Amino acid sequence: MVDRWLGCGNLQRLLHYHRCMHIADIMARDRRTVSFEFFPPSSDQAAAALEQRLAAFAEFEPSFVSVTYGAGGSTRVNTHDLVVRLQDEGRLDPVPHLTCVAHDEAGIDDILQRYARHGISNILALRGDVPADGQAHAPEAFPHAADLVRHIDRFNQAGGHPDARGFGIGVAGFPEGHPETPNQLVHMEHLRQKVDAGADWITTQLFTDNSHFFDWRDRCDLAGITCPIIAGLMPITSLATMRRMADLAAGTTFPARLQKRLQRYQDDPAAIEQVGIQWAVEQCNDLLDQGVAGLHFYTLNRSDATRRIFEALGAGSSAVLRANDG
Ligand SMILES: Cc1cc2nc3c(=O)[nH]c(=O)nc-3n(C[C@H](O)[C@H](O)[C@H](O)COP(=O)(O)OP(=O)(O)OC[C@H]3O[C@@H](n4cnc5c(N)ncnc54)[C@H](O)[C@@H]3O)c2cc1C
Repeated sequence: MVDRWLGCGNLQRLLHYHRCMHIADIMARDRRTVSFEFFPPSSDQAAAALEQRLAAFAEFEPSFVSVTYGAGGSTRVNTHDLVVRLQDEGRLDPVPHLTCVAHDEAGIDDILQRYARHGISNILALRGDVPADGQAHAPEAFPHAADLVRHIDRFNQAGGHPDARGFGIGVAGFPEGHPETPNQLVHMEHLRQKVDAGADWITTQLFTDNSHFFDWRDRCDLAGITCPIIAGLMPITSLATMRRMADLAAGTTFPARLQKRLQRYQDDPAAIEQVGIQWAVEQCNDLLDQGVAGLHFYTLNRSDATRRIFEALGAGSSAVLRANDG
């Protein structure tokens, strides 16, 4: 397979391939992963702002960074462009999100082939949500994320990727359930199907109450889901952020204890931010104490809150959290 690649005369990409690691290698290297999520900027101004912050994010030395995939056509190209640029720069190891909603099989194959050619090692496979604008879109080749995982697995088996293992595949997990499937036993079964179809790891929806995560992790275990589970976290930096989180992650609980603290300072934005950061730090410490496989920060492309969390954890970079010290 590597010969085929070299046959394309693309030595530079081969070098990048070595820099971009399969999730199995990342997890063998890191005792636990630390990762950041970005969304692709949609304007020159947003791109310039992210560009500045990428240097700050790189200083945290994350295990990998992930890049979201939008519902609409133009933002989808932006994901690909940001992923390839990050990889070409070599400072951050990018994991693209890929949603199967509004995609036909040829479209998905085209994306997989392009990422494979660029030596991208891992993909977060999702269904996505039907665009709110109700625009007409391609027939659904893959109705659920498990169908997409199965397809990527077939792509891997067919030798479509320069790494013989193919793409490492991640899927989404929802500790507090998913709005479309109120029956939690059935929803757990759907998660198990994604893992059985070939997923290597799970990244969770954001949550602010660790007890939900721990209980759900135990239930995954009971359901025979044994792949690593990375916890998704997003610090509350303002009351508007909390409302946005509630929207993004429908069904997420904001514990009364947290809301009381926020209410106490509702007229003081700096204090609200401090409460939110402090809460996230408490969550991180608790998760680390209880052997979480990884911490994934939904950054909204801002590095400031992440820096403050790392400082409060006493970690200059993620290296100390990732260290494989036995
Ligand atoms: C870590 C993370 C990253 C995300 N990144 C993005 C992104 O980049 N872009 C984006 O658009 N969205 C993203 N999302 C949102 C996600 O796409 C939506 O929440 C979506 O509704 C669910 O995606 P899924 O991959 O879990 O889908 P699925 O696993 O397909 O599940 C969707 C729903 O269908 C149900 N279901 C599954 N299989 C079956 C079946 N066989 N029969 C009947 N019902 C079934 C499930 O129980 C669930 O209710 C992300 C979410 C998370 C947690």
